[in-house]
Amino acid sequence: MQFCNLKAQYQKYQLEIDSAIQNVINNTAFIGGPEVSQLEKNLSKYTGSNAIACANGTDALYIAMQAAGVQPGDEVITTPFTFIATVEMIAQVGAKPVFVDICDEDFNLDVSQLEEKITDKTKAIIPVSLYGQPSDMIAINEIARKYSIIVIEDAAQSFGATYHGKKSCNLSRIATTSFFPAKPLGCYGDGGAIFAQDEELAAKIKSISNHGQSKRYHHKYIGVNSRLDAIQAAILNVKLKYYDEELIMRQQAAERYTDLLAENVRVPNVVENRTSVWAQYTIRVENRDSLQQKLKDAGVPTAVHYPMPLHLQEAFEYLGYSRGDFPVAEKASSEVMSLPMSAFILNDEIELVSKVIAP
Ligand SMILES: *Cc1c(COP(=O)(O)O)cnc(C)c1O
Repeated sequence: MQFCNLKAQYQKYQLEIDSAIQNVINNTAFIGGPEVSQLEKNLSKYTGSNAIACANGTDALYIAMQAAGVQPGDEVITTPFTFIATVEMIAQVGAKPVFVDICDEDFNLDVSQLEEKITDKTKAIIPVSLYGQPSDMIAINEIARKYSIIVIEDAAQSFGATYHGKKSCNLSRIATTSFFPAKPLGCYGDGGAIFAQDEELAAKIKSISNHGQSKRYHHKYIGVNSRLDAIQAAILNVKLKYYDEELIMRQQAAERYTDLLAENVRVPNVVENRTSVWAQYTIRVENRDSLQQKLKDAGVPTAVHYPMPLHLQEAFEYLGYSRGDFPVAEKASSEVMSLPMSAFILNDEIELVSKVIAP
């Protein structure tokens, strides 16, 4: 059994994907060109915010913060329970990461603890839509507005999810996503995108992602080279057409897991007025190591996202946090386990996994 069945997905769209790739090779527009512009149009239409393609989800965060004017000395509030890239990029732009514990119910920022972390140095808040489910963005935006702070949704795991009917990536002034192969919408290498609700900011982001150019060899900003390859854009243009169908399949797989497991383990919870794209289907168990081994013996791959919260990582020792500072994140780190999930997971596979967990 595969953790994320990318092969079945490729087989389904093979003819279209192969011809899209061949088309890029034939027309030799490998950087930029029609495929990338088309993808940006498609992503903008899908989310309702202005999309700029870039090289990966980590760069997307860096560029978003640069465009938002985050500078050395600023503080940026985020969660300690995320992939390192979120916090790593805060440090890379020279700002100080400030953590807020997560909410036990959805693994996202605990909004009730947010306001007390705001200082006169706070420049941005980066809520992470973990495992595919957005945070309470209305509440976060409201607090941010009160203090004139910018909100950047890290939607690397939640492209396509909704919050009060509105799409993730369009729930705050800026958002970022990733098209890493195993993300819900993945390409065949690295890829990412940044979203900006206002066009002026979108133009700045576009420029920063391509050496700060305003026009060829005229540089308005100090930027980076973070362009999306045309071949990746071509693949994404094909996959995006089928994405909503895949989201329904992911939702059905998640519901099947929940039906089979809810009586025996703590299953994920999707809050009212939100949907998840199930980047991960993550249960909580107290006997994780032994259960993971048992699943492995039965041929079931699992993963732990994430075994150590970021405030306890060696790289962030300089921030001066210690064990006990974020108890909800710490407890989650010791209990979470993600099960095989993709649009193409079979019912038989879900049943097998569930049987091993709850015999
Ligand atoms: C995957 C991920 C990223 C980084 O994306 P890459 O494309 O791998 O650089 C950032 N934040 C979160 C929450 C992620 O899951």
